[in-house]
Amino acid sequence: MRRPASLEALRAGGKAALARALSAVETEAGEDDLARFLDAAAAAPRAEVLGLTGPPGVGKSTLTNALIRAYRSRGERVGVIAVDPSSQVTGGALLGDRTRLATDPEDAGIFVRSMAARDRLGGLSDHAIAAIVLMRAVMDRVIVESVGIGQSEADVVHAVDTLALCIQPGSGDSLQFMKAGVMELPDLILVTKADMGGLARRARADVAGALTLARPADARAAPQVLCISATSGEGIDEALAAADAFAGSARDSGALRERRVRQERHWVVDALRQRFGSVGLGLCDVDGALAKAGGPFAAMAMLDAAMRTRLAAGQSSMPDPLTPDQPPLA
Ligand code: GDP
Repeated sequence: MRRPASLEALRAGGKAALARALSAVETEAGEDDLARFLDAAAAAPRAEVLGLTGPPGVGKSTLTNALIRAYRSRGERVGVIAVDPSSQVTGGALLGDRTRLATDPEDAGIFVRSMAARDRLGGLSDHAIAAIVLMRAVMDRVIVESVGIGQSEADVVHAVDTLALCIQPGSGDSLQFMKAGVMELPDLILVTKADMGGLARRARADVAGALTLARPADARAAPQVLCISATSGEGIDEALAAADAFAGSARDSGALRERRVRQERHWVVDALRQRFGSVGLGLCDVDGALAKAGGPFAAMAMLDAAMRTRLAAGQSSMPDPLTPDQPPLA
């Protein structure tokens, strides 16, 4: 089961080719050829990526199902990645590829994967990032659902084009998010379960209040706050329109391109810090490698190889951070 040899083959090969490419992310990890393949996909995004984040029980899966139905009714092909921090315990994705999504396995226009977050503290793994990049290059829509609570909620921001934070009426969540500084991140805020009536309206007012308190005066425009109900369908079309409007204006203004460039740099920095610690990261010329390699995955591979060579050459322990005497790697 070879992975598709090129981006064209990936696009032509349907769900089977995408599944093979996703397996290759694990089996060929660290190989230059895979890095080039992933960089080609990263450089040719087709879908805009919508992230859904929020605490367990807020209604993300139900909303994802509603969004899938809405996209499919327009004939758009949808990829879903559910990031599951709890799955580290089992070493694999606890939810399996079924997740809690009621999708039709026969539908060639839906592809669902659940991925483990990196550790209990969250963070997207290299594999989850690669999966997002591959789906983004193939499908018309990509949804990244962050299943758990914790840091991964915030980390999803480094891999999506539009981040929607879901808030449950009557939960006091907005106060928690404000305390955690999470209110700075979303591009759109969705108060779920609008069929709960007064509670949802109250939550919406609380969120609007929290936004004015939490955002510094020079922050970008505050996100829109919408009430939605995935069960009654109320507000779903409006939420889709708001997400599309945000993505459209980000695309037109160039903000989307800048965001993706920042994200690619973040992936490289984050992967190196994860593997070699902050001191190891400090030895790497990330911008030089990005310029030379032409893409984030090749840059990661290049810096990873350089660090390993350096470690194997006798500098087997990390250098003393107080006396860094080695030149940066590129
Ligand atoms: P997740 O953990 O954030 O993915 O939340 P789920 O989608 O699994 O939903 C958690 C619970 O909330 C389930 O019992 C859902 O049936 C319920 N739920 C989800 N959306 C709605 C909604 O729009 N209205 C109401 N009343 N309940 C909802």
